[in-house]
Amino acid sequence: MIVVENLVKTFPAAAGAGEVSALRGIDLEIAEGEIFGIVGPSGSGKSTLLRCLNLLESPTDGRIVLRGDDVSRLTGAGQRQARRRIGTVFQQFNLLHSRTVRANIEFPLELSGLDRRQRRARADELIELVGLAGKEKAFPSQLSGGQQQRVGIARALASEPDVLLCDEATSALDPDTTDQVLDLLAELNRRIGVTVVLITHELGVLRRICTSAARLDDGRIAETGRILDLVGRPGSVLGSAIVPVGD
Ligand code: ADP
Ligand code: MG
Repeated sequence: MIVVENLVKTFPAAAGAGEVSALRGIDLEIAEGEIFGIVGPSGSGKSTLLRCLNLLESPTDGRIVLRGDDVSRLTGAGQRQARRRIGTVFQQFNLLHSRTVRANIEFPLELSGLDRRQRRARADELIELVGLAGKEKAFPSQLSGGQQQRVGIARALASEPDVLLCDEATSALDPDTTDQVLDLLAELNRRIGVTVVLITHELGVLRRICTSAARLDDGRIAETGRILDLVGRPGSVLGSAIVPVGD
């Protein structure tokens, strides 16, 4: 589904202090239908990797191949089209506060030129799918954090993306709501087959829903594999954190 080859991202540093190497040659394969977790300490490059994957940031070197297409050097209409194949869910939800739930979800569909009736039908289908039936006309300020994130997820799914990218999508939520949103992501993965890539700093998230994971450290992949293999792998930091000794 997604192949990342030697991905490098370097930022020019402020005040002539040299460069910042956010990603130092990332190789990664994410198979169709996975729930793939990316963990790592603050500053290890998780958000930069995700922003390269959703084409908000262009890599300094390397490639990103989505279902066989190199999407890392696209511009203009080609890039806009590729972006529709990738849905993003944000930590702070990023909803439009002057718009209702339905209008938030319709927003990306307006940009892709769907007519009013089709937009509405698609939005109502998504509202049902994420468990917000009855909230069509509510405004974001009238919803709980968990409900707002459900709107964020529905909006990300509006253009029927191949993959859903989530950057710390549950870190603004309390533990119970976090579990509900994670369960929703797992259910969507099962029901509509969308591949999920999820950045987190909480190992409990890996344990709950991920099928595979990678650990980033200082812009490099420190380890990666299927959760089941990591748990049995001697010396695996992820494996021992997922199933603590004596658990
Ligand atoms: P994480 O999400 O794992 O905390 P980031 O991807 O946000 O890490 O950051 C990785 C490194 O790249 C950090 O050293 C950060 O300061 C740097 N960085 C990220 N974005 C920029 C930017 N736009 N300009 C300069 N440096 C950046
Ligand atoms: Mg980050």
